[in-house]
Amino acid sequence: MRVNENILISSLTTMRLGGPARYVIEIERPEELPEAYGFAATYHLPTFVLGYGANTIGHDEGFPGAIIISRMKGIHETPTPDGIQLKVMSGEYWDDVVAYATSKGLTGIEGLSLIPGLAGAAPVQNIGAYGQEISDTLESIDVYDTATHSFTTLTASDLHFGYRQSILNTTESGRYFVISITLNLKHGQMPRPLYRSIEKYLSEHSITDFSPASIRDVVIAIRRSKLPDPLTEASAGSFFKNIFLDETATEACEAKGYPVHRTTDGGKLNSGWLIEQAGLAGQLIHGIRVSPKASLVLINESATSYTDLATARDEIISKVYDTYGFWLEQEPVELVAHLASPSASSAPSPSTSSSTPPTPPTGATK
Ligand SMILES: Cc1cc2nc3c(=O)[nH]c(=O)nc-3n(C[C@H](O)[C@H](O)[C@H](O)COP(=O)(O)OP(=O)(O)OC[C@H]3O[C@@H](n4cnc5c(N)ncnc54)[C@H](O)[C@@H]3O)c2cc1C
Repeated sequence: MRVNENILISSLTTMRLGGPARYVIEIERPEELPEAYGFAATYHLPTFVLGYGANTIGHDEGFPGAIIISRMKGIHETPTPDGIQLKVMSGEYWDDVVAYATSKGLTGIEGLSLIPGLAGAAPVQNIGAYGQEISDTLESIDVYDTATHSFTTLTASDLHFGYRQSILNTTESGRYFVISITLNLKHGQMPRPLYRSIEKYLSEHSITDFSPASIRDVVIAIRRSKLPDPLTEASAGSFFKNIFLDETATEACEAKGYPVHRTTDGGKLNSGWLIEQAGLAGQLIHGIRVSPKASLVLINESATSYTDLATARDEIISKVYDTYGFWLEQEPVELVAHLASPSASSAPSPSTSSSTPPTPPTGATK
């Protein structure tokens, strides 16, 4: 375990905003988790689990507690009758996992290529793209439960997956630290017809190889043509969620000619289209650029504070609401506190004075 002090959240998140975090604790083995949470509980420090920071927004005032990050690595294979089960440690970079799986001819996550982030965050908002979601292949996750101070396993059905959600970012937000994820992947190919933009790319480029590795290449090419690279452009990907409509609202939107994608019980309205139609695509608002190529994406071009981002966000939401009557919902998480509950074991001795600076846990480096 490594403990670092006073690290700027802007350096840990792809939107590149946010003041200093008091502690950043990097976890290299599951056994270190009780000690890390014990340390936070003893000194009443709020905690926040961070991955790559691609879906998290830091606040200007920073974070007065401990940010805990998984650095646990490893991919373990178990053969199954029709494929391979992969157990992936949460600190693995997600796209490396997709590259690994597709190189073995495994289907199930090739559509999720190039999504920035760590494997441990993938089930949190049930990452999805090009017709696949991680919930399609996720078997279970191994977690540290900060409420009971124990290690346990949650199955996919325990997680109550939905569109960009699971219990990990709703009812049980902040409770579980994901240690590893287990995926059931199969030998084979994605069923056709594939997602519309993939089919279009295949036919335009006369590609007849539908193997997972080939579809991965196509997804990467499509994404690179329209989405910012977090290494060179600051963003958190899609800043707003798409809108799910019931049957009546779907019919009303269809009657007005809005592009609604039919689902089993209604439809999905593309929020990016609403932003575009409201005349906001390409606009620079308080240093935040509404991407001209993908209007759901906000790029931090010259914003210097969270306040700039929040002001731009609110102006976009108001403009879309005033024009179309739909209220956009933010997708990225805000880096705010979860108070660690006291643990019976593993915590350093409590300090008698709240003004005494906490001592980092054993084995820490600064
Ligand atoms: C350019 C760009 C494109 C993107 N495209 C997509 C896309 O196509 N589809 C999509 O779904 N998302 C997309 N995203 C969003 C983002 O990549 C995903 O949400 C990704 O899973 C975030 O991973 P992370 O490690 O950066 O998570 P973080 O932002 O660090 O954390 C996100 C949430 O997960 C929690 N968390 C992280 N690690 C753990 C853990 N080990 N245990 C428990 N909780 C944890 C955090 O507390 C937080 O609530 C995109 C983002 C960018 C910047």
